[in-house]
Amino acid sequence: AQRPNGLLRARYGGRNVVTMLPGAGIGPELMGYVKEVFLKGGIPVDFETVQIDPKSDNNDDLKYAIMSIRRNGVCIKGNIETQSLDSAIFSRNVVLRNELDLFVNIINVQSCNNISSRHKNVNVIVVRQNTEGEYAMLEHEGVKGVVESMKVITKTNSTRLARYAFELAKNNGRAKVTAIHKANIMKLSDGLFLETCRNMSLNYPDIKFDDMIIDNCCMQLVSNPHQFDVMVMPNLYGSIVSNVICGLVGGAGLISGKNYGDHYAVFEPATRSTGSSIAGTNTANPIAMLNASADMLEHLGHKMHCYKIRKAICETLNENKIHTPDLNGTAKSSDVVQNIIKHIVTYT
Ligand code: ADP
Ligand code: MG
Repeated sequence: AQRPNGLLRARYGGRNVVTMLPGAGIGPELMGYVKEVFLKGGIPVDFETVQIDPKSDNNDDLKYAIMSIRRNGVCIKGNIETQSLDSAIFSRNVVLRNELDLFVNIINVQSCNNISSRHKNVNVIVVRQNTEGEYAMLEHEGVKGVVESMKVITKTNSTRLARYAFELAKNNGRAKVTAIHKANIMKLSDGLFLETCRNMSLNYPDIKFDDMIIDNCCMQLVSNPHQFDVMVMPNLYGSIVSNVICGLVGGAGLISGKNYGDHYAVFEPATRSTGSSIAGTNTANPIAMLNASADMLEHLGHKMHCYKIRKAICETLNENKIHTPDLNGTAKSSDVVQNIIKHIVTYT
């Protein structure tokens, strides 16, 4: 079950088994669409579904989910909620990424021509640190009314993240890597991050390297996103920048995100939204989760099935123009899914 790059995948009798974590909000209905598309498309992947009770005061469900991913190597997930009032129960999404050492989150944002959006022809890859920085969850109230929160940046994680960004740029024919930071204020932590990226760039003379401060970056993204190619950044900036870019090209319902470590791969919608307010209304855009499932198929080596899903999504959005309300359309989630299936079954 070992892939050349070291990432694991379970395979029994020609079929892959992957872990499915539906999570909260619109997660379960989106997973239902993924399963329907896989079934109708004859895609040889079985799902091991693990439900995580948001209200639970222990992490037994989460531990089981993590064990399942360790066994299968691959997971598709919705956003997991943590409603426990016990402050010792941390965000389960964060714990899962940390336990599996999924040190990088990658979002490839490409705009779709026939969707109403702020900008056309955007094509940016965000490479985000996924396990440390502001997400260290080391907070305490040492003195009443004074809360401290630790931001952790390590040379080890910054180095492997920077290497990942430059390798990705090289292997995808990208011209430029931009490091995003706030090293003018956080001189030590973001300073280390920036210096590590700059040092890594010396190994890649064919790829241009520059850097930008996060606040200017947000302004530049909104006014001229075309200047960006590959962007690399610490965890919290990555969260914000990912959401800004997704917003530029059509919102939370379109783009998928990939989480990788040395051993495991987890696929999900890029903005990691829960979508509680629209759950159960048949209005959620199913595309982001279907794109995540296509990324997963690519990772598993099912290139043809991946291609078919992406092609059917493209035809549904661009030619048939079947759009859910988030894209100013009137279609139901199920209309989009049925149209995608209609295409997939005709491809030979
Ligand atoms: P978070 O979980 O970070 O709070 P939300 O669930 O509030 O994020 O999502 C942000 C916004 O994006 C909400 O308005 C939500 O309805 C919308 N949204 C998220 N996912 C989708 C989707 N798949 N289709 C349509 N709208 C979505
Ligand atoms: Mg919300």
